[in-house]
Amino acid sequence: MSYDTIDRVAVLGAGNMGHGITEVTAMAGYDVTMRDIEEELVEDGYESIAWSLEKLEEKDRLEEPADEILARIETTTDLEAAVADADLVIEAAPENLELKHDIFADLERYTDEDTLLATNTSSLPITDIAEAVDTPERVLGLHFFNPPVKMDLVEVIYGAETSDAAAEAGYGWVESIEKTPIYVRKDVRGFVVNTIVGPFIGEPAWMVSEGDADVRQADAAMAHQRGYPMGPFELADLTGIDVGYHVRKEAGDDIPPVMEEKVEAEELGKKTGKGFYDYEEGDGPDYEPGDGEGFDTLQVEARMINRAAYLVGEDVATPEAIDIGVRLGLGFPEGICRRADKIGLDRVLEKLETRLEETGDDRFEPHPHLRELVEEGKTGEDAGAGFHDYGGGEDGDLDAYRYLNAEIDDGVLEVELDRPERMNALSADLLGEIDDLFSTVDTDEIRCATIEGTGDRAFSAGADITGFGSLEPTDAMDVTPAFETVHEFPRPVIAKIDGYCLGAGLELALACDLRIATKRSAFGAPEIGLGLIPGGGGTQRLMRVLGETRAKELVFRGNHIDAERAANWGLANRAVDRDEFDETVEAFVDDLRNGPPLGLEVAKKVMNQGEDASLEAALAMESQGFGLLIGTDDVREGTAAFAEDREPEFEGQ
Ligand code: NAD
Repeated sequence: MSYDTIDRVAVLGAGNMGHGITEVTAMAGYDVTMRDIEEELVEDGYESIAWSLEKLEEKDRLEEPADEILARIETTTDLEAAVADADLVIEAAPENLELKHDIFADLERYTDEDTLLATNTSSLPITDIAEAVDTPERVLGLHFFNPPVKMDLVEVIYGAETSDAAAEAGYGWVESIEKTPIYVRKDVRGFVVNTIVGPFIGEPAWMVSEGDADVRQADAAMAHQRGYPMGPFELADLTGIDVGYHVRKEAGDDIPPVMEEKVEAEELGKKTGKGFYDYEEGDGPDYEPGDGEGFDTLQVEARMINRAAYLVGEDVATPEAIDIGVRLGLGFPEGICRRADKIGLDRVLEKLETRLEETGDDRFEPHPHLRELVEEGKTGEDAGAGFHDYGGGEDGDLDAYRYLNAEIDDGVLEVELDRPERMNALSADLLGEIDDLFSTVDTDEIRCATIEGTGDRAFSAGADITGFGSLEPTDAMDVTPAFETVHEFPRPVIAKIDGYCLGAGLELALACDLRIATKRSAFGAPEIGLGLIPGGGGTQRLMRVLGETRAKELVFRGNHIDAERAANWGLANRAVDRDEFDETVEAFVDDLRNGPPLGLEVAKKVMNQGEDASLEAALAMESQGFGLLIGTDDVREGTAAFAEDREPEFEGQ
């Protein structure tokens, strides 16, 4: 069976998830029918979609008018009408196995065998849901995250009987709606993301229960030292302490006493006004960076890493899929497998073994796959391999990067900053990769380069300031060479800016030669608000590009300016509407791609270097460059083409 063409989609349920899934499906151009059991419920769902689309439209985040997207959505309470012509059905009804069985039994009746049947369940086995149909091979999990409009990740889950054709069709469809799918190849409880997040909350809860830590200490250490988007107790309060409690109960796991006490006291978190923090009388999560001192973060990370080893060892997911999952699904600052490789798998194993010995608690039992990796000497980055492989990345291997995508297309080095979940914030790893790429790539094949952000919000919203608090002044002074490397790259580099271009993101854009922006973009150097100054060349490059008056305004006030002002000030070469963006960039790229490589290289060099020299020295550099070019084939070709009134074909000789 193949499920090649998916044109029509039906979503069952107009609640939290159902209306969001309907919205993103319609945004991607599909016709979609949303069904709920009562007219009022579908109407509420439809209104939520209309409201959300309106907001997106105001922020210029839609590629077409909201009305046109809405026009692709139909609503009904009639199940048969909703699914009869659908190629894909996504069930997003309440989390109740009996109810889902009834729905899937009806689907068996009302759909053809080549209709793909998906469930958005978070915690029920796909295999159990599929029991209600005679054709379980077409049933799969498509697990969206809340809210679907914002969250990029979708777990594509195999039930025991799911066919590859069905899973692949589901995966392809998720890509087609511009979300990021990861395969979950076995139907394990929690799939990938919830399997990893379990100990993120659970282990600190045990540590507090056992008197080894306190709540603020754990949260401060995990958020401020280790860069997680929030502390574990803060997260538990946000999602509801009862939610994690029930998940553990159902899995037959022991419950950490502090969690049990909170549930008994009905202090369930933010929603009840009190949980681990007080939201009514107190200020909510009020931990400070310094509170984290002395907390054993490795104990928590070792348990998450052990879960990752289980997922890999049992062939549930690859390290790549797990890393994408936790970055996009949980906002982790880096993949957990990647982090494990940095810590060293031998250290992780040792931590687990020591704690196992000390406590006898099997939550520390190392998974055989972790032992195996360590026994094979695959202890992480320093050893050249761990969960991931580090040895293979030959110079010039453009696929070797984790946080950026790079390819050379028809003479253009196209670079994407790939951390959409953090608005492409520039972490030390990402900057290291930029530096590596621009210093090792073979320039013979390249006529110019472009840099842009992924996701739809930012070029880059700044530096990843995680860990700033614990940085020694001498480390901070060791500023990354990435900006200089881009600035000195012997080919012209264009920054394609659509969205936020702030802080270190602005510094990267300034290191490029040309900047083209969409009108919705915002520029700024907000560092002063943190008590800092730009540290990647920003103060100096802004002075050179803008002059003192404007540069000081940006650096001293720390506020944003819009793209039109940026273009007026000469910070951006152009500020254009989004629908003209690609065209405008292409026109620039075209000129650079077809221009004389040597001429452009020399022009860039003398203009960059001349800026820092006396006029006399700069003029000498220019005439030297001029003299150097005079004898080249490119100049002969250029002058011949001019005389013959044709387009020149430069070879870079
Ligand atoms: P919800 O209660 O907000 O919405 C469920 C909707 O389904 C309700 O409007 C209900 O009236 C409707 N419904 C009931 N029976 C139906 C039927 N037979 N046909 C069609 N609709 C029916 O719940 P939710 O939060 O949207 O969750 C839906 C599913 O998504 C659950 O399986 C849940 O586990 C899963 N999920 C939820 C989240 C989350 O964060 N909320 C995240 C991922 C997955």
